[in-house]
Amino acid sequence: MSKSLHASVPSIDAILRLDGMIVLIEQYGRTLVTDAVRTVIDNIRIKIPELEEKIIPLIEEPAIVSAVIQFLKTEKKPSLRTVYNLTGTVLHTNLGRAVLADEAIEAMVKVASGFSNLEYDIENGKRGDRDNHIDNLLCKLTGAEAATVVNNNAAAVLLVLNTLGQRKEVLVSRGELIEIGGAFRIPDIMSRAGCKLVEVGTTNRTHLSDFESAITTKTGCLMKVHTSNYVVQGFTKEVSTKEMSKVARSHDLPLIEDLGSGSLINLTRFGLPHEPLVEDAIKNGVDIVMFSGDKLLGGPQAGLIVGRKDLIAKIKKNPMKRAMRLDKVTIAALSATLHLYQDPDKAAERIPTLKLLTRTADEIRKIAQLIEKNLRAALGDEIGIKQIECLSQIGSGSLPVDRLPSVALSISPIKGKRGSQLKKYAESFRALPIPVIGRIQDDAFILDMRCLDDVDGFLAQLSELKI
Ligand SMILES: *Cc1c(COP(=O)(O)O)cnc(C)c1O
Repeated sequence: MSKSLHASVPSIDAILRLDGMIVLIEQYGRTLVTDAVRTVIDNIRIKIPELEEKIIPLIEEPAIVSAVIQFLKTEKKPSLRTVYNLTGTVLHTNLGRAVLADEAIEAMVKVASGFSNLEYDIENGKRGDRDNHIDNLLCKLTGAEAATVVNNNAAAVLLVLNTLGQRKEVLVSRGELIEIGGAFRIPDIMSRAGCKLVEVGTTNRTHLSDFESAITTKTGCLMKVHTSNYVVQGFTKEVSTKEMSKVARSHDLPLIEDLGSGSLINLTRFGLPHEPLVEDAIKNGVDIVMFSGDKLLGGPQAGLIVGRKDLIAKIKKNPMKRAMRLDKVTIAALSATLHLYQDPDKAAERIPTLKLLTRTADEIRKIAQLIEKNLRAALGDEIGIKQIECLSQIGSGSLPVDRLPSVALSISPIKGKRGSQLKKYAESFRALPIPVIGRIQDDAFILDMRCLDDVDGFLAQLSELKI
């Protein structure tokens, strides 16, 4: 029996000659399609002993063709895909942090599509500097004398420490020895940068005199770190930037600051909590400020370094800079994003991160209402759905304790055990063509609507939800 079944499985060639294959070969290429056909046929043969006659429908040509199409679709699916971020965390490192402005996307496409003057001085027909596409604007926006950019803020910190503190001591308050997600710890970066960390003061209280008495002939610089993902509360004392700068200056030492997110405009004007401004750090006497491109700035992944001209020149000369440089596509996106900041109102309107952060609960409720109606139909009678007030997070260590009032849809079974059900709901939403990422909290599967922008796209795929 199984012998004759084996004999009736079409050959690879026979399948490849079918009409339906021509389009597939055009789309995916002959090699991939042949591989797919071989895999599908091999799988059928493997199943013959177990399924016997039941295999017959699978051997028919249309069935094989659709199996090949299915195989190619899943195999060719890119690993990096877009998702709906309904976690309630706007700047979610695992979900790609900032969504770029249209202006930034257009600039990326343009520069990627052709040659450019990335390192070419068009006026003089000579070699140029890739930083020049950004540094003037960055100086204008921050009040700094000079600027340079690298791959991310972690690289910026490493580069600055290595330039100013190698084989020297770097003083940091014990209250600022942070770890942020993804294994970025100040003490580790310090040692990799070749600096000796000198801890100053205590976890909750550090005084100016602690810094003064820690300065020796071996001191390379003083460092301030924005404690972006936690707060020390209660009996605390932090040395202000101004005070630290005075001490640094009197010993002719640079003061550097890792500002983490850093902001270029005052966010309180949009009703958001206060986040330190890069401009203020410079005004208060920090010599070198480092911050991220894809946190509150809302641009591409980058590490921005601004400050004193002589120090920036030194940093740019460090051979490590070459290993951390930005590519042209990122420079295009960063430059376009920075341009939007020349008009703060425009920035809030055009930069998706700021737009999502400044959405009011009322605006979000309107979206939730629309989605709730459609979702109710897709979920059936066994599953309950309701609108709830919730709090979104800014994320990526920015403004760690502040929360933004938002509206979510809370999904939970009407009866029965919740735990395993909720996990299944989360899986079903992740299995959609554009995966939907929510969170399980308070005995429900929660979809925070703050970051839902493409409402039509979201609704269009609900018919495929298998829950
Ligand atoms: C986020 C952050 C970093 C790392 O920045 P990346 O751009 O992610 O490399 C460094 N320091 C602080 C204080 C941060 O908040």
